[in-house]
Amino acid sequence: MEVVTTPAAMQEQAIALRAAGQKIGLVPTMGWFHEGHLSLMRKAMEEADRVIVTLFVNPMQFAVGEDLDKYPHDLDRDCALAEKEGVDILYAPAAKDMYGTDFKTVIHVGGLSSGLCGADRPGHFDGVTTVVAKLFHQTLPHLAVFGEKDFQQLAVIRQMVTDLDFPIEIIGHPIVREKSGLAMSSRNSYLQHDEMAAALSLSQGIEYAKDISASGAVASVEHIKEGIRKIILKHPQCAIDYVEIVDALTLKPSVVFSQNSVLLLAVKINQRVRLIDNTLLGYSEK
Ligand code: AMP
Repeated sequence: MEVVTTPAAMQEQAIALRAAGQKIGLVPTMGWFHEGHLSLMRKAMEEADRVIVTLFVNPMQFAVGEDLDKYPHDLDRDCALAEKEGVDILYAPAAKDMYGTDFKTVIHVGGLSSGLCGADRPGHFDGVTTVVAKLFHQTLPHLAVFGEKDFQQLAVIRQMVTDLDFPIEIIGHPIVREKSGLAMSSRNSYLQHDEMAAALSLSQGIEYAKDISASGAVASVEHIKEGIRKIILKHPQCAIDYVEIVDALTLKPSVVFSQNSVLLLAVKINQRVRLIDNTLLGYSEK
């Protein structure tokens, strides 16, 4: 596996791969790989001839006071994991090379990026879309794999790709969980032992909603959201950013369930560790 560190070198390699007729698959990440990241790499390898994994902790998507400075980072560890998966190129640029000293462009996807995580983290998705657009130009992929774990991010990126005519297939990949049910996340490394029960309340809320949905019991959107809030708030360490049931395409709140309803959660543990999780409820309208 080759490690590339500058945008110019990356683009040169991508142009050469394209000229050689290779289908390029991209997996953008912020590193500190876990099984969720590795599953995206495997999917990209199934779909493409060459896989580029990017590792960039993007300052533009973090607000002041968020965890940019303490985000877990170990390039050697991540290189070893990506290499073991058979990744062809790990692209890990420095922030100064990505943005220079005079960067002025912002890509803003209206509507989809303003609610949910966008409401709690203003400007976050502008940072995501801007860097993903840059990564697309630097790596020239035919397809890119993103996790459904970041459900809103995936919707925002799909919209950007459509609106800006990127000739790139966007593939969503399912959430990978710990045996306990906790959705894997690099941020789980911030959790202390006595915070695990609180962290598990997100996936317990999800199970509760799925059970009701699978049983076919008639329950209102508000009733399910209230049940989930109770499960989460049993833990005094938890503060809810949002518990929402929305339409998977528009991200607008569902008033009644439909096949497209998705449950999205964001919870802060001890005001320190922000966790997100989601599930499609796939509730049939009766
Ligand atoms: P991150 O490094 O957290 O920015 O994530 C990089 C990519 O991995 C994003 O597309 C995420 O949605 C995806 N991802 C993160 N956690 C998981 C998970 N538990 N299962 C599947 N994909 C994930």
